[in-house]
Amino acid sequence: MRLLVVEDDRDLARQLHSALTDAGHAVDLAHDGAEGHFLGDTEPYDGVVLDLGLPEMDGITVLQRWRRDGRDMPVLILTARDRWSDKVSGIDAGADDYLAKPFHMEEMLARIRALLRRAAGHASNEIQCGPLRLDIAASRVSLDGQAVTLTALEFRLLSYLMHHQGKVISRTELVEHLYDQDFDKDSNTIEVFIGRLRRKTRAGLIETVRGLGYRLTSSPGGDDKA
Ligand code: CA
Repeated sequence: MRLLVVEDDRDLARQLHSALTDAGHAVDLAHDGAEGHFLGDTEPYDGVVLDLGLPEMDGITVLQRWRRDGRDMPVLILTARDRWSDKVSGIDAGADDYLAKPFHMEEMLARIRALLRRAAGHASNEIQCGPLRLDIAASRVSLDGQAVTLTALEFRLLSYLMHHQGKVISRTELVEHLYDQDFDKDSNTIEVFIGRLRRKTRAGLIETVRGLGYRLTSSPGGDDKA
C-alpha cells in the first residue's frame, strides 16, 4: 500500500516513515500542510497519517479540503494535545481515526492496518484467497500453511492484490500504489514482479486480464465476484 505522512516534526516524521516502510508500505513524506494537501490531492494514497498542528495550512483545513473535493482515502490524525475538542473537530472534518501524542509506533501501525483493511472491505487481520493467506499484522504470506519468502516489493504487490482480490487491477494502478513518489516508476517492472509471484505461489492464482490488468482469484478461470 502507498501512504502519505504529513508531519512537521522531522524526527517523528522519520520514525513514522521507517515504521511504515518496515511494515511493507511505500511512504511519501510532507512537512507542511500545503505540501501535504497538494500530495493528497494529486496522488492516489491508500491511507494518510496527518498531524493537526502544521505550518502553512493546519491539518483540519487540509482534511476538510480533501473531503470537500471527494478525496476519500482513510486518514489517521495525530493530535498534539490529548484534548477531546481536537478529536471531535478532526473526526467531524472527516478523519477515520485519531492518535494522541505521544503514542507507541505499534499502536499507530495497528490503527493503520485496521484502516487499510476496512477500506478494502476486510474485517479481520487475516485475508485468505484459496491456498494463500496474508497475515497483515505479521506482514507474512503463506501458501497451504507454508511461509512464502518474499522481497519487500513482492510482498507489497501481493498484499495489494490480496486486499483487492477478485477485482481487476491495472498496471497503472499497481504502479501508483506500490511505489513512493521518488521511485523511478516503470510499469514494465510490474510484469516481472507478477512473474516472480506466480512462481513463488501458484501459477493460476494471479490471472492476466488481457488489456486490463491482473486479478487475484481463488477460482482461476471462474467468475470470482469477491
Ligand atoms: Ca506538528
